[in-house]
Amino acid sequence: MITPDYYYVIVGGGLAGLQLALRLHQDVFFKGKKIAIIEPSKKSANDKTWCFWEKGRGNWDHLIAKKWNKGKFISSELSRDLALEPYSYKMINSLDFYDYAKEELENSEDIFFIKDRITKIDQVTRNAIGEKNNYTATHFFDSRLDSDFKNDEKSSLIYQHFKGIKIKTEKAHFDPEIFTMMDYRVKHKEDTCFTYILPTSKNEVLVEFTFFTPSLCKESVYDQKLEEYIHSILKIDHFEIIETEKGIIPMTDYPFHKSNTRYLTKIGTAGGWVKASSGYSFKNTEVKVEKLIENIKSGLHPSANLMNKKFQKYDAIFLDVLQSQNNLGESLFTKFYTKNSIQEIFSFLDEETSFSEDLKIMLSLYHPQFIRSFFKKI
Ligand SMILES: Cc1cc2nc3c(=O)[nH]c(=O)nc-3n(C[C@H](O)[C@H](O)[C@H](O)COP(=O)(O)OP(=O)(O)OC[C@H]3O[C@@H](n4cnc5c(N)ncnc54)[C@H](O)[C@@H]3O)c2cc1C
Repeated sequence: MITPDYYYVIVGGGLAGLQLALRLHQDVFFKGKKIAIIEPSKKSANDKTWCFWEKGRGNWDHLIAKKWNKGKFISSELSRDLALEPYSYKMINSLDFYDYAKEELENSEDIFFIKDRITKIDQVTRNAIGEKNNYTATHFFDSRLDSDFKNDEKSSLIYQHFKGIKIKTEKAHFDPEIFTMMDYRVKHKEDTCFTYILPTSKNEVLVEFTFFTPSLCKESVYDQKLEEYIHSILKIDHFEIIETEKGIIPMTDYPFHKSNTRYLTKIGTAGGWVKASSGYSFKNTEVKVEKLIENIKSGLHPSANLMNKKFQKYDAIFLDVLQSQNNLGESLFTKFYTKNSIQEIFSFLDEETSFSEDLKIMLSLYHPQFIRSFFKKI
């Protein structure tokens, strides 16, 4: 038998690939097993601002650029203060994460960073075929997104798409202790859209205009809405743009796990690790990676029981509601944030709630479209 080049090949050194590599590196169980991380880009740009909530201390605290214990939810008619304790809302600049992962992993004798782009994984020969080279392994962890999810008629699909600008003002304008989860005061047609605000100091803030819609929009739409928010809501006329961030996150109940095989596990967005109803995945990735490692050590397939069917169903119903009646977004999120405590909300989104707690949250959102979507998705 020919010995494979690597024990594991991780395709993609982004969030999921690097979190997985770090966790494999930290566990003596994997010592001596050669692992390749194949990634075409240098990962030297700060391309994302990752936020997530968690209780108390966490594994990424040394990378936290800012955290908040207080937030706000604002609709056209009301404003709700969110006292997060025992949770806090934490922010990491992606470049700090990439740099940290590289520094930790580069000195390992088992980890190999390879600059290449994989075009295909041949599972018969267990070969990842790259533009520069081919790589054999016993198992592949693959973060390439299969574009089939866009054409699957059975799945709902909406996009969380946004543009954010980090602005700097001369005078102190912001309260750096309070972030805004959603502000619905600036609107675009009947779309579900809101502004997300992360103040990092008294004169620096990240303002993002975000849509949850079935289709995308031109860049000029985000620009107009950001300007409108900054002028009419924040009442700021003079500012400097110091950073820009754009993103498109698919929110879908497409069964990504179906692409997993004996020798291949899809990870990250490509594995369905983005929470379909919220678009968050940083913390979810940590949870999935932990479970995946446990599975391997117990002799199971890495992806065994990685997804929670009950919460997948809830997400599918919620997505169908938003896809069928996109104009409902503001009223649904207003009910979500005003009829439930933020602790109940975080726990529900973290998939930690019991059926009776789920029921309370679902009843708080009630709209007849949920009944139609329920019967469509059941
Ligand atoms: C701008 C932005 C902001 C976000 N903010 C948040 C947030 O605040 N909180 C949160 O929880 N989630 C957030 N998300 C969602 C999610 O956390 C990110 O999308 C996350 O990066 C997904 O991880 P991933 O590993 O699947 O993808 P990525 O991090 O994109 O990694 C995939 C990697 O695969 C590589 N790759 C692609 N094709 C190939 C190939 N053929 N061969 C080899 N390598 C390949 C890519 O270069 C890339 O590095 C955000 C997403 C975006 C786009």
